[in-house]
Amino acid sequence: MSERGTVFILSAPSGSGKSTLVASLLQKVPNLVFSISFTTRQPRGEERHGREYFFVDESCFERMIADDQFIEYAKVFDHYYGTARAYLEQALAEGKDLILDIDTEGAAQVKSKLPESVSIFIMPPSYDALRARLENRKQDSAETIQKRLAWAGQKEIYRYRNYDFIVINDDLEQSFDNMRSIVVAQRCRRDRMTPRVHSIIQTFGGK
Ligand code: 5GP
Repeated sequence: MSERGTVFILSAPSGSGKSTLVASLLQKVPNLVFSISFTTRQPRGEERHGREYFFVDESCFERMIADDQFIEYAKVFDHYYGTARAYLEQALAEGKDLILDIDTEGAAQVKSKLPESVSIFIMPPSYDALRARLENRKQDSAETIQKRLAWAGQKEIYRYRNYDFIVINDDLEQSFDNMRSIVVAQRCRRDRMTPRVHSIIQTFGGK
């Protein structure tokens, strides 16, 4: 049987470059799988049901809450987002390492239910850098940008304290290297290595 996978929780204020880093990790680090969340928000641009998210309506999401189907869920900027328990459990049982791109509230819920999960907080290098990125990507209205900056400055950024690792994203390549190092270090932990170590020890005649 394959060893149980690891959950990597990634959170960041909107505009910190998290999506780019997640995309690079998925592309360049083998055996890493993206946990596809459920959301009640509408698809944006090229997004497809079952790839970036499972897009569902509010009544479906609320039924799933009532049926206890989420390991965590939260309302983020007026929409529900949640991670399905069954999806996560199946991937872990198959020995896959999972990336959960979730907000700070969801992250706290996962960490309390799965304390062995590894959490990473991605920080922008400064408030001004975050504002500049939100403005430059031209995705949100001025009002939405203001709302995101206010949330980041009043609540979100201080929650870095709840995370195992911090990556300050002032250089994309360096941040990617740091994140890959975190994943690799986790995979080298003794408990993860035990099955392979045992088979090596057998070659020495041991058990
Ligand atoms: P977006 O709508 O820009 O894709 O995501 C908005 C926020 O929702 C991001 O901070 C993202 O990390 C968070 N998010 C995405 N999926 C989930 C989820 O399953 N649970 C929680 N709690 N947050 C999520």
